[in-house]
Amino acid sequence: MTTENAPDALVIGAGPAGLMAAEALAQAGHAVMVAEAKPSPARKFLMAGKSGLNLTNAEGLEAFLAAYGAGAAPLHPILTAFGPEAVQDWARGLGQPLFTGSTGRIFPEAMKASPLLRAWLARLDGMGVRIMRRWRWQGWEGDAVLVDTPEGVRRLTPRVCVLACGGASWARLGSDGAWAAPLLDKVAPFQPANMGFAVTWSAHMQRHMGQPVKGIALSAGALTSRGEIVLSRAGIEGGGIYEVSRAMRQGAPLLLDLMPDLSTSDLRQRLSRARGKQSMANHLRKALKWTPEKQALLMEFAQPLPKDLAPLIKALPVTHQGPLPMDQAISTAGGLRWDALDGALMLKDRPGTFAAGEMLDWEAPTGGYLITACLATGRHAGQSAAAWLAR
Ligand SMILES: Cc1cc2nc3c(=O)[nH]c(=O)nc-3n(C[C@H](O)[C@H](O)[C@H](O)COP(=O)(O)OP(=O)(O)OC[C@H]3O[C@@H](n4cnc5c(N)ncnc54)[C@H](O)[C@@H]3O)c2cc1C
Repeated sequence: MTTENAPDALVIGAGPAGLMAAEALAQAGHAVMVAEAKPSPARKFLMAGKSGLNLTNAEGLEAFLAAYGAGAAPLHPILTAFGPEAVQDWARGLGQPLFTGSTGRIFPEAMKASPLLRAWLARLDGMGVRIMRRWRWQGWEGDAVLVDTPEGVRRLTPRVCVLACGGASWARLGSDGAWAAPLLDKVAPFQPANMGFAVTWSAHMQRHMGQPVKGIALSAGALTSRGEIVLSRAGIEGGGIYEVSRAMRQGAPLLLDLMPDLSTSDLRQRLSRARGKQSMANHLRKALKWTPEKQALLMEFAQPLPKDLAPLIKALPVTHQGPLPMDQAISTAGGLRWDALDGALMLKDRPGTFAAGEMLDWEAPTGGYLITACLATGRHAGQSAAAWLAR
């Protein structure tokens, strides 16, 4: 194994954070090489495009920052410099017209990631950024960066390095969390974020599997959501549950409000209509205009049925068996701790090495917060690395 000179800057990982870091470095005039473990770049970003690619959110910066919880403080200067407005300009600059959905979420009109990614990779190529595929970073040997390539292990000595290896979910798309091994003393344990929860359904529920449940509200601890959920064989999934998943992971019980637009007393009034000889199921369906799934959920979690159903319909406790496996989560909490980094996102004990994206220890709900923070930290790390080179 020989030691080779690398370009000025080596970026590890070709997801949105790494590509943004590469762009910032190239814009500053540096030669950039990106080492990507997979045969093609940005596989998780492309997967995010399958659900429409929620790039960012139209809310003001302060409200936007609040979504990051404890991560809001260290991310504040980074998202102030490159926040939701800047993300929109960036996407439009890549020829992607955008639209704002009813909840303020912002998507490309194409509702997928591939046209944006194609334009971005072409722009990076024009700037001389070289993406090396099937190049897996393994750690360090002294000052040299070790990269496993199809031609064998290489020892590279770039002047700066940006790590952007992603979180620890959807390993088949590249974000396997294996990068944590050489950094272990600086890594907060990974945990699933924006994930579904396992439910052992009774036989009665089997015919509802795969069905969405709309028009409900969810709450867990201080978190609430009006999104929809999907009933799956594994449990409960979908945007509505992701929004409250952080509190559930911390132990808060999940409560469903099956009629969020009616008060308890309005509900009582509707249910007091004469039931006659109808079954309870038919009575609920007619009095509340319920889908079979809502009705099934009530029957599943409210046995035996009390006489006064209204309070349960407003706050139905859901019994679950905890988060679904982390590899299925949309994102992960944990990662490289902030106290291991300085304000430039440089590793304090490894000058010239920076980090960005989901591998940092922050979490946020879905809603465009994830990609925005990945792009913003990628840009910040890339610009900091360029400033380091210019010293
Ligand atoms: C189904 C799904 C839907 C989503 N939808 C949205 C959405 O609509 N909006 C949103 O904001 N977010 C969404 N996300 C989350 C978003 O895709 C991620 O937060 C984002 O891609 C993380 O960017 P990143 O660059 O930090 O990491 P990643 O995108 O994970 O990229 C990391 C890259 O590093 C590479 N890598 C890892 N280890 C090494 C190594 N040792 N050497 C070399 N390369 C390595 C990986 O192969 C990968 O290409 C979604 C995620 C999923 C799974």
